[in-house]
Amino acid sequence: MRYHSTRGQADQKDFAGVLLAGLATDGGLYMPESWPQFSAAELRALRGLPYPELAARVMAPFVAGSIEFADLQAMCRRAYAGFAHKATVPLVQVDTNIFALELFHGPTLAFKDLALQLVGHLFEHVLAQRGEKVRIVGATSGDTGSAAIEAVAGRKNIDITILHPFGKTSEVQRRQMTTVGAENVLNIAVDGNFDDCQDLVKAMFADAPFREEMNLSAVNSINFARIAGQIPYYFYAALNLGAPDREVAVAVPTGNFGNILAAWAARQMGVPISRFIVASNRNDILARFLEANDMSVHGVEPSLSPSMDIQVSSNFERLLFEFQGRDAALTAKTMADFRATGKMTVADEVWHAIRRDFEGFRLSDDETLAEIARSYQESGYLADPHTAIGLAAAREKAPVGLPVIVAATAHPAKFPDAIEKAVGSRPPLPPHLSDLYDRKEVFSRAPNDLAVIETCVRNFANRNV
Ligand SMILES: *Cc1c(COP(=O)(O)O)cnc(C)c1O
Repeated sequence: MRYHSTRGQADQKDFAGVLLAGLATDGGLYMPESWPQFSAAELRALRGLPYPELAARVMAPFVAGSIEFADLQAMCRRAYAGFAHKATVPLVQVDTNIFALELFHGPTLAFKDLALQLVGHLFEHVLAQRGEKVRIVGATSGDTGSAAIEAVAGRKNIDITILHPFGKTSEVQRRQMTTVGAENVLNIAVDGNFDDCQDLVKAMFADAPFREEMNLSAVNSINFARIAGQIPYYFYAALNLGAPDREVAVAVPTGNFGNILAAWAARQMGVPISRFIVASNRNDILARFLEANDMSVHGVEPSLSPSMDIQVSSNFERLLFEFQGRDAALTAKTMADFRATGKMTVADEVWHAIRRDFEGFRLSDDETLAEIARSYQESGYLADPHTAIGLAAAREKAPVGLPVIVAATAHPAKFPDAIEKAVGSRPPLPPHLSDLYDRKEVFSRAPNDLAVIETCVRNFANRNV
């Protein structure tokens, strides 16, 4: 499989090249040259497979030419072996036609583990093939750092440095990052805030000699390998609800648009998903676009569902590319205008075509708490605030009679304060994290100073030499 940039000015790459590059050099995002097709018979043949087997078969066409099928299969098995549920991504009924697809049984209790656990193995494999080493650096406000750390911990030829603002993450978030106990993980608590951390990471990438010396890399959310790792669970859920002989809808709590784009990719590949409900909190740029062709950038306001507190959704560019007829020059122009004006406009026919598949939805914090209480009282189902927005979206927007798959993106124990407000008690951490407070923490502390941070990263890289 070959991959093209959505902006048309970067080299084409194979899967391994896309994995290591992340963003294309023209600022665009990589997309497969075509969507692999699964016939109805091929879909039926996937029914009943254990999740890692199904994932390998669904992803095989994307890695073809870079990775052997048997290797992919082995990596899928290893990536999902540590999940705390035998079904990996169990489907739980919440209402007559509403099903929660639980994507939070991985090590950090959020759906990003599905892609990142696999991406860690893919990096290790491709780096060994090429005889290369990379150093991943990133910054976190607390939420995403642990998923990247868990992805890379113990993998060969990679190490990872994550900067977090000292004293400004929750204790659970910090402990999830600092207690992993792998020798290739360096946590640095920076005397500063999250923006300082992010600026330090940007400055390291901008320091060309340092970037080359260290072979810096990122596992950010625009890497197509992450999208590929999220497509199989939509196959799995739809097959369990009767596909390919029955249509389904999906409702996805959305931030950067990666997860719902994966659902749309599953449809392009043959899974009969006829409706895509984009669920947002008060940061509703996508809902406004889908209501009125108004994609204008507002400030970010904090909400009970912090992983959806976004200003723009970077993966939306991929959908735009598809709906603008894969015209890379037009996509590049649309994105340049968007960056210049803070407002995106697409042609009426493009907007109408997107609306035939996609529908927006927004929910306030109070309504989110009400939905957590409702699904708990009516069905005994405890949803985290992100998942609750998806459940409410499914109740309000689902086409009559169709089963709706709601992406349950985080474990309720990650958001104990919101859950306590909604239902009156705090959910316990699941067994594999119950000793989190007893584990040994390892992290360094450093001033907000680029030279000091670069020295930390370099010394860490040279620790075994
Ligand atoms: C990252 C995240 C989201 C948003 O997913 P996107 O792919 O960025 O749209 C939603 N919920 C949770 C819990 C997340 O961690």
